[in-house]
Amino acid sequence: MTRSPVWHPFTQHALEPPMKRIARTEGAYLVDEDGAAILDAISSWWVITHGHRHPAIMAAIQEACEAYDQIIFAEYTHEPAEELARGLIEFAPAGLSHVFYSDSGSTAVEVALKMALGFFHNAGRPRSRIAVMEHGYHGDTIGTMSTGERGVFNAAYEPLLFEVDRLPFPEPGHEQATLDAFEAACRSGQVAALLIEPLVLGAGGMKMYGAALLRELKRIAERHGTLMIADEVMTGWGRTGSLFACEQAQITPDILCTSKGLTGGALPLAATLCTAEIFQAHRSSDRSKTFFHSSSYTANPIACAAAVANLHVWRNEPVSDRVAALSDLQRTRLARFEADPRFANVRQAGTIAALDLVVPRGGYLSEVGPRLRAHFRARKLLIRPLGNVIYLMPPYCVTAADLDRAYDAIDEAAGLVEKGQL
Ligand SMILES: *Cc1c(COP(=O)(O)O)cnc(C)c1O
Repeated sequence: MTRSPVWHPFTQHALEPPMKRIARTEGAYLVDEDGAAILDAISSWWVITHGHRHPAIMAAIQEACEAYDQIIFAEYTHEPAEELARGLIEFAPAGLSHVFYSDSGSTAVEVALKMALGFFHNAGRPRSRIAVMEHGYHGDTIGTMSTGERGVFNAAYEPLLFEVDRLPFPEPGHEQATLDAFEAACRSGQVAALLIEPLVLGAGGMKMYGAALLRELKRIAERHGTLMIADEVMTGWGRTGSLFACEQAQITPDILCTSKGLTGGALPLAATLCTAEIFQAHRSSDRSKTFFHSSSYTANPIACAAAVANLHVWRNEPVSDRVAALSDLQRTRLARFEADPRFANVRQAGTIAALDLVVPRGGYLSEVGPRLRAHFRARKLLIRPLGNVIYLMPPYCVTAADLDRAYDAIDEAAGLVEKGQL
């Protein structure tokens, strides 16, 4: 095989086997160059919601191509962006009224951070600190890395990262410590915003906490005039059982970031939604109060058309029923590992199931991670454990039989690890 010039993300090229090419995608499957169908049990890094190449979304993309390519998004606007914004306001928790477009989850969060700081700056009472939760992940740009968990991923860049107030993760029974830490941080009067993944901390190890805590954090934020930024980049579009995870806590964050499932996973697009108050703080005859942010491909019309089609899918198809059915499937299939001593922290949030394989040395760099991946790959399953944390986050079209195959492979892997054969 000739050596490829491609440098892949989160890939140690010295240790990885040569990569197979994927020739096409279909429903819950990736089909490789040899025609083998691989079950995409992690929705291609959490982006595919309904299934690969949903017909209505692909048709909308084709139709949009007849009229648009990229269009500058200052001075002019276009219908896909306008229609999508109206739809997002309708779908999002009540009280969010403005939509700012960008291209990825990371940029959606960067925009949110800038909105929060701009809000206080333009009001003439600047605040400069951001509070976050331990084990959080918000992206891989310098700003979002600053707010995420520090570790091997960002050690090289540490000197450039800014300081944040880090709240301890609310381990069951220790929720009060999280609330107290937030209250204490807020007392400085300097915390512009709490940036938080609602209910599930994804890349940090599928760590889950309850809606009551999220609601309580919102109350504390309100008391101190601190904004809440909900990073729903992963949790949005049904993953946790509701369209947005914030709904379960019955809260409206001041700023909401969405990306991954926004187009059903078909094209890259992100949106940062905010309240009228935040928009108004930037609306002024004084030009220096303008929101100074843009990326070249802001609100790409074809991506917006894909997202509009995704909203139609949510309106016209029984997506919530599919989400509920998948959540039930995950619960019944996970149950077999509840009392299994080879696993710990068996947990679920809606369509997301996760469990920790008990190994002597866990954590993200646990050597068991790549071995598990190879085990799953050999069984035509795309499952990428976060170290010793195994999780399944399939598209909503996945069948019970598909899911059973994934769970059987997890069971088998645990058996092999126990016998020292994996
Ligand atoms: C994936 C993710 C991001 C980053 O999104 P990208 O599109 O990869 O930049 C941000 N926040 C959360 C919670 C995510 O899961």
